[in-house]
Amino acid sequence: MTENHPAKPQAGHHNLDPHLDRYAARTAGMTASEIRALFAVASRPEVVSLAGGMPNLAALPLATLSTHVAEIIAEDGLVALQYGSAHGIPVLREQICEIMALEGISAHPDDIVVTVGSQMGLDMVTRLFCDPGDVVIAEGPSYVGALGSFTAYQANVIHVTMDNDGLVPEALREALAQAKKHGQRVKFLYTIPNFHNPAGVTMAVERRAEILEICRQYNVLVVEDNPYGLLGFDGQTYPALRSMDPDNVVYLGSFSKTFASGLRVGWVLAPHAVREKLVLAAESATLCPPTLNQMIVSRYLSTHDWQGQIKTFQENYRERRDAILSALVQHMPAGCTWTHPDGGFYVWLTVPEGVDTKAMLPRAVTARVAYASGTGFYADGFGSRQLRLSYCYPTPERIREGVRRLAAVLESEMDLVRTFGNVKSRAISGPESPSPDTA
Ligand code: PMP
Repeated sequence: MTENHPAKPQAGHHNLDPHLDRYAARTAGMTASEIRALFAVASRPEVVSLAGGMPNLAALPLATLSTHVAEIIAEDGLVALQYGSAHGIPVLREQICEIMALEGISAHPDDIVVTVGSQMGLDMVTRLFCDPGDVVIAEGPSYVGALGSFTAYQANVIHVTMDNDGLVPEALREALAQAKKHGQRVKFLYTIPNFHNPAGVTMAVERRAEILEICRQYNVLVVEDNPYGLLGFDGQTYPALRSMDPDNVVYLGSFSKTFASGLRVGWVLAPHAVREKLVLAAESATLCPPTLNQMIVSRYLSTHDWQGQIKTFQENYRERRDAILSALVQHMPAGCTWTHPDGGFYVWLTVPEGVDTKAMLPRAVTARVAYASGTGFYADGFGSRQLRLSYCYPTPERIREGVRRLAAVLESEMDLVRTFGNVKSRAISGPESPSPDTA
């Protein structure tokens, strides 16, 4: 190699990017999520990571699965390794209907479009409905990957408050009334009704009909994102919004949390009228979802006790939830509040006034614990007093140790605040914390 070979491009040096003037306007809002930026540090073995939402797959029957894969390729390889329809393979779509029936949904397999994870569903739905400047209503806080899709299509997000029973209907009504008053075009309500990411709360069943009714009244579609619905710690399930208003709800499902996230198999169940456009959008994105992966999921569902497997996952996550909640009670300083999830992966923590969770993060990582700071879950910069703790992946012992470390960091942060005032004064003024918080 010569001395003067071209310099290697350096990641992150945007000023040196020769393509800067070429990017589409829609890329302006695209920034690496705080969570992604964190993964590299948080994955060092000495750090207890309560940051990422990686499912704990240790309980999967790997030997059985590898036999399935070998059988599928041996018996049906020329189909499994070939293009398929953009719709997804028929047998899997039928099985998906059976799964959704567990939450009260009655659907026809033709109305399902299999996707590359529900993330692709989010992208497609936003692509279909949002022009630049349109408004999406979302819970505050909301799923970071969904916010990324909304930003990518230049939609504006208006957050609506939650409490321990999920989205607050009155706040939704108020937000829609305000948007209407200001002539904003609201395209849909994006909601994660069950075991919310990141808030850890569930929309009360009594609220569901009212929320659907409000959306009907304002002529707003509902996008129901439900990857955690079958992960209730007591095996409990809740009626899907889709089951209550099939013509006005687009439902997003996924096998990522109930089976294997790496297979990237999810689905969209759209109102019949939307289905055709959705298939066209899927075609232009990927031509078709991966046939082999769909066949793996399908065989797993038809030959394995998948409901028993989900029960194992539930027990696994419940044990971790118990560990984190008891550690929080034991270690957290006064003034901190947090949610009490009864399913899913996440606890949402609110810290005392003056502490900035984003500014605190490097100090936490130095103390060998990582979390996701709250601002990443808002489109408007809110959330500096909040953070998300994921208890799904580490062992209960590591979770307890992580919470102990975090509490120590918080204590010293609060000392600093008492001595010097706010660690970083907040740029965003607004209503008191909209997070669902309980002591
Ligand atoms: N929606 C929510 C609320 C999620 O938490 C996630 C994954 N973290 C997704 C969608 C995307 O899941 P998938 O793996 O199916 O793309």
